[in-house]
Amino acid sequence: MERIIKAVIEGTKYNGVPKHTKSLSASSFGLENQQLLLRWKNGDPSDDDEFGNNTLGSVIHKGFEEIFKSKDGFEVEKPLSHKVNNWTITGTVDLIDHEDKIIYDYKLLSAGGYKKVASGDVGTYETQLNIYRYLLFKELGEEYQIKLLALNKGGSAVLKNIYTFVDIETYDFDLVEDMIIDKTNEIEYLIEHPDEVLECDIWKFGKNKEKQPNRCAYYCGWRDKCGYWKKRNSTNNHFATKNLLM
Ligand code: SF4
Repeated sequence: MERIIKAVIEGTKYNGVPKHTKSLSASSFGLENQQLLLRWKNGDPSDDDEFGNNTLGSVIHKGFEEIFKSKDGFEVEKPLSHKVNNWTITGTVDLIDHEDKIIYDYKLLSAGGYKKVASGDVGTYETQLNIYRYLLFKELGEEYQIKLLALNKGGSAVLKNIYTFVDIETYDFDLVEDMIIDKTNEIEYLIEHPDEVLECDIWKFGKNKEKQPNRCAYYCGWRDKCGYWKKRNSTNNHFATKNLLM
């Protein structure tokens, strides 16, 4: 049994891109510039030694994949890519309903995150999902709508409020292309001018018992490469975040 469970979890592991690769995934558009620069310098963090924060979400994705892969008119885990401004923009769509022309993306969210998304505050997911829609258009030449399936991991207390669908506003494709060009130009500029990189919004997800920002401690795979994180852990100085990229 344990062997099977381990194999399922292993199957969800993320294989990122190596360093100095002109490739940007749709989900990377929600990263901070410091993270994007660390990603460029070091590649995506490997989860060879430990499972990442997204492991549980990935297992749920795997479940949906198994259920929908044999259903007519649906396509699961569809990888997409398109070259823009000399960068390869990538994304993997969770589920596509080709009959009703809808892209679905599932997000497993904490109780607080779920409440926010369910109320329509989808933050950077809107950009991520519009990039999927753009990539799909480049491949199929057809326009799809987007729905986010928010799943509440708030535990048994949430009872009937465990999922909801949120319609995502769609952007003009020219606007999406301009956003991609701006972002890739910005990254190239920061690679040349690392001193100009701005601080991360480190307190965005609150702090833990050790008074460390959750964003760094739990949600950033580049912390071991980040000068801010190293400095903070050696001096407990949480103010100096600038110009500390290693
Ligand atoms: S460890 Fe914190 S400051 Fe450093 S890149 Fe990650 S989120 Fe930003």
